[in-house]
Amino acid sequence: MSSRDTRRVPRTRRGRVQWVRRGVQIFFVVLIATIAINHSLEEAGRSLPVLSSASLHAVCPFGGVVSIYQLATSGTYVNRIHESSFILMIIVAAMAIAVGPAFCGWVGPLGSIQEWVGRIGRRLFRKRYNKWVPRKLDRVLRYLRYLVLVWVVFMTARTTMLVFANIDPYYALFNFWTGEVAVAGLVVLGVVLLLSLFVERPFCKYLCPYGAFLGLSNLFRIFSIRRNADSCTSCLACDRSCPMNIKVSTASVVRDHQCITCMRCTSEQFCPVESTVELSSHRLVGSNRVPRGGEGQS
Ligand code: SF4
Ligand code: SF4
Repeated sequence: MSSRDTRRVPRTRRGRVQWVRRGVQIFFVVLIATIAINHSLEEAGRSLPVLSSASLHAVCPFGGVVSIYQLATSGTYVNRIHESSFILMIIVAAMAIAVGPAFCGWVGPLGSIQEWVGRIGRRLFRKRYNKWVPRKLDRVLRYLRYLVLVWVVFMTARTTMLVFANIDPYYALFNFWTGEVAVAGLVVLGVVLLLSLFVERPFCKYLCPYGAFLGLSNLFRIFSIRRNADSCTSCLACDRSCPMNIKVSTASVVRDHQCITCMRCTSEQFCPVESTVELSSHRLVGSNRVPRGGEGQS
């Protein structure tokens, strides 16, 4: 392929990755809902044996993050957190070092549900969807989630309680029928779902402490979203496709802390030119790939 070759991506290849991603998202939403319902049934003695001992806290990797301090200082877990949370935290962290916060883009059930609600918003508002927040305000708000992360880790270490559970929309979503969810959690969930009609993944963008934690991996991940400037036609389709409003069209490598590795911007999905945006560990130039180093960043 020459340096300006603009071969179109075959239609049959388009969207395959996104169909797989959608399948993974549905699988985890169903799995988490099943675990939560089964945990409620357990109290009535009617749970499925294979899932009977699992609770939502046992399958939450963020529980491992907020337990680090207590585990290091006293060798115990925060109240209601299990060893399994810690193991899941390590698995997700290893995945983030390799491919970034794919957990957010592929697995996290609240992210998936925000995305699905957002599809309604996209139909309602078309080009205006996901562009309501003024750029300057949006840029500042995106650092809010780091404040939330610091507050959650600090308060959990201080109280040894899961302080975030009271306002966690994920916990509220999969426990609203139990009577264990604080009113604040239900309100946050309602606001997040409503805002999802206007802004794609508002909780992920502005408030999620686990997204903030995993987002740091974008600064050093091994496989990144990379753009081949030689074959790019500057059509901006990648920018329009990005749920996190990242300007892929001007980057050689996406290092934005908000990338969730959803792969929507890639040549397998929105970018119309073959091999121009890819998940890769190497810089893309022409038809050749050269070792990393010295690339422009976003
Ligand atoms: S840059 Fe690409 S992979 Fe990252 S969030 Fe945006 S569309 Fe998804
Ligand atoms: S989608 Fe983005 S990377 Fe692909 S040709 Fe258009 S501007 Fe370039």
